Amino acid sequence: MAPDFSLLPSRIPIQNPANPAFTTDYSPLHGETPAAVLFPQSHQDCIDIMRWANLTNTPISVRGAGTGTTGGALCAPHAVLVSMQNMTRIVEIDPQNSTITAEPGVILTNIHTMANQYGLFYPPDPASLNRCTIGGNVAENAGGPRALKYGVTRDYVIGLQGVWANGEPFHYGGKVKKNVAGYDLIGLLVGSEGTLAIITQITLKLIPKPRHQREALATFDSPEHALSALTTVLQHGIQPSTAEFMVDTCIHAALHYLNTPPQFKVQRAAIIWQVDGPSEDAVTAQLSLINHLSKALDFIPMTTPDMINHVWGIRRAISLGLNQLAGQKHSEDIAVPLAKVPIVIEALEALSHPGGIQVLGYGHLGDGNIHVNILKMSASTNDWHTHAPTIIKQVMELAISNGGTITGEHGVGRTKKSFMPLQFSPHDLHLMQSIKRQVDPNGILNTDCMFPK
Ligand SMILES: Cc1cc2nc3c(=O)[nH]c(=O)nc-3n(C[C@H](O)[C@H](O)[C@H](O)COP(=O)(O)OP(=O)(O)OC[C@H]3O[C@@H](n4cnc5c(N)ncnc54)[C@H](O)[C@@H]3O)c2cc1C
Repeated sequence: MAPDFSLLPSRIPIQNPANPAFTTDYSPLHGETPAAVLFPQSHQDCIDIMRWANLTNTPISVRGAGTGTTGGALCAPHAVLVSMQNMTRIVEIDPQNSTITAEPGVILTNIHTMANQYGLFYPPDPASLNRCTIGGNVAENAGGPRALKYGVTRDYVIGLQGVWANGEPFHYGGKVKKNVAGYDLIGLLVGSEGTLAIITQITLKLIPKPRHQREALATFDSPEHALSALTTVLQHGIQPSTAEFMVDTCIHAALHYLNTPPQFKVQRAAIIWQVDGPSEDAVTAQLSLINHLSKALDFIPMTTPDMINHVWGIRRAISLGLNQLAGQKHSEDIAVPLAKVPIVIEALEALSHPGGIQVLGYGHLGDGNIHVNILKMSASTNDWHTHAPTIIKQVMELAISNGGTITGEHGVGRTKKSFMPLQFSPHDLHLMQSIKRQVDPNGILNTDCMFPK
């Protein structure tokens, strides 16, 4: 039965029927067409929506920019979608307290730009930064290349306002940087993937902007040599802000996608190093030491905007490039302890299937987060459908058996929920689901995400 919108305050804009664009995100799933899409403009609108949803027993799904890769922004069956795209105000930047407060629909890059104007820095930098929203980042606890030195979204969220799934509003924390009273409800909400609450306002801690930054691209004749360079550098007490690892297939795929020739000699593997610090001398010294310890084939300082854009353009286009190259692909984002990275990278390549399916890993390897890509390539459609699901499960088992996790930053959503029992005991899953039931007794919010049936 269609939801009864007459009980919803008429000021809240409704799109009915829903635009088909709302049935996809960056996961391989095709979602249900929403019963309608609501566009709240304020905290109060979100409270009214959740109260209405509980009153009329209408399932709700929440959506930021839809760049998520695990299907979390898609719609549950018969659900109404709540799009945060109209809540785009930066409410306040407070240089004295080094905080920024924003509505959830603000695009991440606008947070970076605003902080930068005040000599401040918000480090989390998912590669989707030009499109994803800060609300989506909080809901997914997004990471990015700089997580190696600066941590992830959770490390910067100090205040949250929103509405629990049962319609109860909340406002936790604020501008205070130390706060240990009671259970950590902010910590619970960050990474809750829209299953517990709609987040309507976020206060982020900012840090002083590093005054100097230098980058270089190092190339290697094998992934093993690149990974051993990474371990050696970290063991020498050097703390790069970024160490992004790519193999040649990724680089060629990205170059092809960008339709641009390489401005360096492509070797079997590469690392993008980034260092930052208080003085030019300090960062130059760090980079020289990394060069010395890396024993790379080539060590190319990225000194011009053109070279920086070229190399980072390649890194950011890998996912889309591999998609184009492989015809079809599955992406997973396991994370393992750093010392296990070389073993896991090798084991992943060994999962490639004789039928033509190729498996490779790249990504934020300095923090153990491996983006695993399972590529269809020359495999027949039949082989792809038969073997890809088994390979995905083997990837997850590999992560867990090496002390890791099924997801380092992309979340569980709909695509990974069946793997939760690999990482959590029945007791753990029951505990999480009882928290969900406590704040969502009517099973309203993003109900078919996170937990296996
Ligand atoms: C090219 C590309 C590169 C990427 N690189 C990275 C990367 O480096 N690191 C990384 O961590 N991720 C990365 N991602 C994944 C994605 O961008 C992040 O997960 C991002 O945080 C999603 O933000 P979004 O606004 O698009 O959220 P959506 O995809 O719209 O939603 C994601 C989840 O958040 C929930 N949600 C959204 N807004 C709210 C809200 N206000 N309240 C409650 N729940 C909400 C949704 O219900 C859903 O479950 C990448 C994606 C792409 C396509």
